This record gives sequence, C-alpha cells and structure tokens, in this order.
Amino acid sequence: MDSKSINPFAIYFDLKDGLSNNVESTKRYLSQMRGMYADETSYETSLAKGNSLVYEFYELNIPQSSTHLMFGTSIVYPGKIGSEYFMTKGHFHTIIEAPEVYYCLNGQGCMVMETPEGQTSVENFKPGMAIYVPGRHAHRSVNTGTEPLVTFYVFPANAGHDYKTIETKGFRVLVVEKDGEWTVVDNSKWE
Ligand code: ZN
Repeated sequence: MDSKSINPFAIYFDLKDGLSNNVESTKRYLSQMRGMYADETSYETSLAKGNSLVYEFYELNIPQSSTHLMFGTSIVYPGKIGSEYFMTKGHFHTIIEAPEVYYCLNGQGCMVMETPEGQTSVENFKPGMAIYVPGRHAHRSVNTGTEPLVTFYVFPANAGHDYKTIETKGFRVLVVEKDGEWTVVDNSKWE
C-alpha cells in the first residue's frame, strides 16, 4: 500500500464533551439503531418519543493506508432502551488483525470486546483509563453513566470497519442495568 503524504495538522477535541470546534462529526441517531437492542418493544416506544442522538464520532480526512493512523473522539450519550444502555453499534475491523487504543476522557462506561470464536471481554471506562483492543476483537462502547462517555481512539488508518457482522449477529453479551448497577448478561438473541 502506498504511503500518501499529508501535512502536519492539529485539531481540537474538548476534554469534557469530546466535540471538535472545526470538524463535522458523524452522528448515529436512534432510528439508525434498529435491531441493535434486545428489547424491540422498548426501542419502538423510545423512538416514537423522539429520535435521540445516541452517539457521534469523527472520521478525519487521513489517507487510509498502513503508514497512517486514524484518530478522533467518540461520544456516547447517556440513555437506555429497556434495561440496555446506549452504546455504539460496534464493529470488527475489515483488516481483522488491526488493533485499536481507546483513552477515556470523560464519563463512565465499558468496552465490550469479542472474537469470532466467542471469547468475550468487558473493560471499564472512566476518565484516565486506556483500553487496548487487540486485533480480531469486535468492540463496542457502552455508556453506563449519566453524562456523555467521551473516548479518544487511534488505529491503523487502513483498518476499515466491518459493521455488517455485528448488525447481523449482535454481540454474545449485553450490558444492562440491574438494581441500579450495570451488569453483563448473555444475549439470548445471538446467532
Ligand atoms: Zn475500531
């Protein structure tokens, strides 16, 4: 893969809300999350009340080659569908061996990680915690708190995103609220 040249640049991401002041984010609204939540009745009820912004993230204009790094912030807003917390869709990388690092700037939550063979890990996000996502692990950020979950991520720029596998099968586990605490339960709909 060719190494494309790009000039040095600097970009601002707010430590509190994660937002940049000069780049447009990619936004995922509740209407775009159909089929992602276990409780479909609660999903339809919530959607009828309003098409909430569930999360947003940045896709910078960096060449998608192996000699570049892609980076930005991800902001998952607080909320629940039934007992299941607001989360990102989650994805494998198209180059499945490509890893990623996340660093939590604000909020509370966790990262669900899962290999195609079914090895599942869940790590805690709180400000200051960095999480390493090795290759072959699908990953999803979940906001278990009451303010935006803001993370900074960086991964090889040629990694690509495979959303289809998760959209079709889901993750093997769900992060849900039980007695005021978050807990991890098996996803009975996983196939
Ligand atoms: Zn990723």
